[in-house]
Amino acid sequence: MRQRIQELLRRNRELELLVQRQKDQITELKEEKVRWENGNAAATIPDGASTFPSESATAERSDGAASGEKKLQEQLEEQLALVGELTETITELKQQAAKDSSNSSKPPSSDGLKKKNATVNGQPKRQCEKKPLGGQPGHQGRTMEQGSHPDHHQDRYPEVCPHCGETLESDTEWDSTCEKRQVLDENETNRQLEYTEYRAHSCSCPKCGKRVKAAFPKGVDGPIQFGPILTAKVIYLRVAQFLPERRVVDIMRVLLKVDLSSATVKKMCQRAAKLIAQVLQELERQVAQGTETKHLDETGFRIGGRLWWLHVMSTLTLTCYRISPTRGAMFESLQGRVVHDCMPSYAKMTDLIHGYCNAHLLRELQAVMEQGENWAQKMHRFLLLLE
Ligand SMILES: [Zn+2]
Repeated sequence: MRQRIQELLRRNRELELLVQRQKDQITELKEEKVRWENGNAAATIPDGASTFPSESATAERSDGAASGEKKLQEQLEEQLALVGELTETITELKQQAAKDSSNSSKPPSSDGLKKKNATVNGQPKRQCEKKPLGGQPGHQGRTMEQGSHPDHHQDRYPEVCPHCGETLESDTEWDSTCEKRQVLDENETNRQLEYTEYRAHSCSCPKCGKRVKAAFPKGVDGPIQFGPILTAKVIYLRVAQFLPERRVVDIMRVLLKVDLSSATVKKMCQRAAKLIAQVLQELERQVAQGTETKHLDETGFRIGGRLWWLHVMSTLTLTCYRISPTRGAMFESLQGRVVHDCMPSYAKMTDLIHGYCNAHLLRELQAVMEQGENWAQKMHRFLLLLE
């Protein structure tokens, strides 16, 4: 659509120039006619013998100029009518192009990158809300509770006093109570939900008298939490399937009978992102500096109702994704050969061997073919043969 408008605008500009040239020609012809008429009059005033053309020759040229002017006038009118038609078509196309789901019956999915940022009373949604993340005042928070009958338990005792180094024997006098933390997770074999309770026992060191307590396993940080299998499922639904937090919560509740909040889903994803940050960094380095040909592309991506860009860099075996608020923020430190579309930002990447992506070229050619350009069809066939 954009290409078609641009093409029409170009043709319109050409026609405008043509019309202007013809107007100039008509003006010149009119001036010439006036000159001839004046000249003829001047020639008849003196004795009749002058260097001016004869009367018949003057009349001939005058007639010629008149018919030329008429012809040009007709051409001009035709061109003006054509310009009028083109202007009308351009206006229609512009109106068509401006239509989206907010001002027509088109579905929101057809908006693409034209989709407007989410707003409330004209303000960007996130900005106008200005609410802190997490539970809002008055919201009945859902706190997970420990299972009263855990399926498994593990008693943990400190072996050495961290203050004096005394070895704590099994006959140490342990406190009668201990701190308990539970992990809820799916059983790997039968897929049932199970609570595992960790009990950290404590005592007073028999040698130095200071308080000593067993440590919990790494990652067991609160009174109750989800284990790695449930966490992986949540992250998979949220990150790999792009489901909104609320829908992840629904799926977990309906299909797996697990009750969790949107805030927990968010925390799980943030924690996972931190854990894999270094892996992603190394992956990006390997792809960017590897010898394999790298394919680069980018696409619009909505985050919090705003337009961001998802950049991809991939080889046959590895793929890196990265998000950025700007379209032209390219991957850095690339080496070797890169294949991409015709976006100028790619061409600005220096010291690389560049190639254009066939799939993108075929799409561009399709648009040119639709404008009736024969060469585009030949090029399209040729590129298909190369594949
Ligand atoms: Zn001690």
